[in-house]
Amino acid sequence: CGIVGYVGSQTASSRPLDVVLEGLRRLEYRGYDSAGVALVSPTGDLGTAKKAGKLANLVEELDLHPLDGATAAIGHTRWATHGAPNDVNAHPHVAGRLALIHNGIVENFAVLKAELLAAGVEFSSETDTEVVAHLVARAYESSHDLTQALTEVAGTLHGTFTLLAVHADAPDVVVGARHDSPLVVGLGDGENFLGSDVAAFIAHTREALELGQDQVVTITPTSVTVTDFDGKPADARRYTVDWDAAA
Ligand code: GLU
Repeated sequence: CGIVGYVGSQTASSRPLDVVLEGLRRLEYRGYDSAGVALVSPTGDLGTAKKAGKLANLVEELDLHPLDGATAAIGHTRWATHGAPNDVNAHPHVAGRLALIHNGIVENFAVLKAELLAAGVEFSSETDTEVVAHLVARAYESSHDLTQALTEVAGTLHGTFTLLAVHADAPDVVVGARHDSPLVVGLGDGENFLGSDVAAFIAHTREALELGQDQVVTITPTSVTVTDFDGKPADARRYTVDWDAAA
């Protein structure tokens, strides 16, 4: 339902988590039943926390089991469509060293899941989303390129999606893809943001890029790269957010 992504300086800090939690708070108005975050540290550690219920439950979980400082983070508030609203079905979904969050519905998930099960993949949730996490993790194993992996998989999905992925091998990268579901980039100084809505990062920047249909975006602290689902360079519309209510 709500999506936030952040990547900043090469040094582990609390900022990625702070930015993502702040963004999720600003997206609360959209409604949700669970929330979660994934953080990647420059030393290649992936940490996740997710809880059913209010964001306060996630914050409590993070107080009890703090995650180390990070350089990249993604955060999600879920509105369950496939699988009950519980801790396990909350996003992010982890596959190996990859974590992924998703807004929308993957219509062809049952077919894809059957193929993965036949290949011996084990699932921990009932969601359509976890299928995508495994597919991207497997694609990553061949290319070792998170952008290429997400691009390949996005082209095979039917339905509606905004997807964000992070990988512990790539601590300064967040990759996103969208089809019939919104994704906006917030342009910072030595840091960049992603959101399902500008509210996700409006506290930090008003310079934004609105992704077009069927685009993939890769953000690092100092770069934003946009392609289509064939991996070809694509244009996104740049604008300055003028939204008084955001102040
Ligand atoms: N279909 C996914 C799920 O049920 C994502 C729902 C959402 O948009 O929050 O987990």
